[in-house]
Amino acid sequence: MNAKVIDGKRIAEQTREHVGQAAREFREKTGIVAHLAAVLVGNDPASEVYVRNKEKACEKAGLASTLHRLPATTTQQELLDLVALLNANKDVHGILVQLPLPRHIDSTTVLDAIHPTKDVDAFHPENVGLMLQGRPRFLPCTPAGVMKLLEVTQVPTAGQHAVVIGRSDIVGKPMAALLLQKGVDATVTVCHSRTKNIGAVCREADIIIAALGIPEFVRGEMIKPGAVVIDVGINRVGDKLVGDVHYAEACAVASAITPVPGGVGPMTIAMLLQNTLKAAQSLYNPAG
Ligand code: NAD
Repeated sequence: MNAKVIDGKRIAEQTREHVGQAAREFREKTGIVAHLAAVLVGNDPASEVYVRNKEKACEKAGLASTLHRLPATTTQQELLDLVALLNANKDVHGILVQLPLPRHIDSTTVLDAIHPTKDVDAFHPENVGLMLQGRPRFLPCTPAGVMKLLEVTQVPTAGQHAVVIGRSDIVGKPMAALLLQKGVDATVTVCHSRTKNIGAVCREADIIIAALGIPEFVRGEMIKPGAVVIDVGINRVGDKLVGDVHYAEACAVASAITPVPGGVGPMTIAMLLQNTLKAAQSLYNPAG
C-alpha cells in the first residue's frame, strides 16, 4: 500500500481563506477587526517561530494581531497584570500566552487568569469542561485541526477504533474527547508512557493519532494495514523536523497519513484564527 498524503498545508490554507472571508464580512457589518493578542515571555527560539507564524497568518487573513514581548526575567505578577489589561481591553478578542513559560512562572495560574471568552487556545478549565460536555465555546486548536483533517479527507470515524498516543492536556486528552463526541462516535483508546504492549494496542487501531513527542516512535509494524495515521509530533532532529511516526515505514502500510511538516502543524494555526474570529463575534454586542 502507498498511503495517500493528507495535505494539511492545503487544507489549512482553505480554512484560513474561509476565516478571512468571514472576518471581512464581520468587519463590513460591525466595523470590528478581530484581534489576537499574543504574549511571548523570554526568547525560546521555537516559540519565536510559532508566534511569528501566528502573527503572519493573522495578517494574511485580515485579522489584527499584537505581540507583547516580555523579558525572561518577567515576574508572574507582571505577566498576570498584562493578562488583566488584555482581559479588560475591548479591542482585544483573543489572548494567547505562548508556552513554555520560564520556570519561575506557574503556567496554570497564568492560563487560568485569561478570561474564558478570550481564551482562544481553549486551555481554561471552563472551556475544557464545555468541550467535554459537547457544547464547546472554543475547540483546542491542535485536536480541532486533526478533526478538520479527518472531516475534509472523509475518514470514517463512527464505530472506528481510534488510538491516541499521548495524554497531555494540550493534545492527547482533548483529542480523545473530540473523537468520543456524539456524531464523531469513535471508540477511543488512550496510550501513554505507562501503557503496556503499545504495539499490540496500535495494531488494533483504524486511526492512530501520535502525540507523544518521540521522533519516529510509531513504526510500520505497529500499524494495521489500511489504517489512517495522523502525526501530531514535531521533533527537531539535527536540522530536520520529524514527526512521532516513522514516515517511510508508515507510508507502506497505512491508507492515509499526515506529513511532518505540512500536516497537523498548519491546521493548528488555522484553528487559532477561527477561534479568534469566533471570540470577536461572540463578544460583539450591538447594544453596548
Ligand atoms: P507532552 O510532552 O506534554 O506529552 C507527551 C505525552 O506522551 C505524555 O502524555 C506521555 O504520557 C506520552 N508518552 C511519553 N512517552 C511515551 C511512550 N514511550 N509511549 C507512549 N506514550 C508516551 O507533549 P504534547 O505537548 O502533547 O506534544 C506531543 C507532540 O506533539 C510533541 O512532539 C509536540 O511538539 C507536538 N505538538 C504539535 C503541535 C502541532 O501543532 N502540530 C501542537 C502541540 C504539540
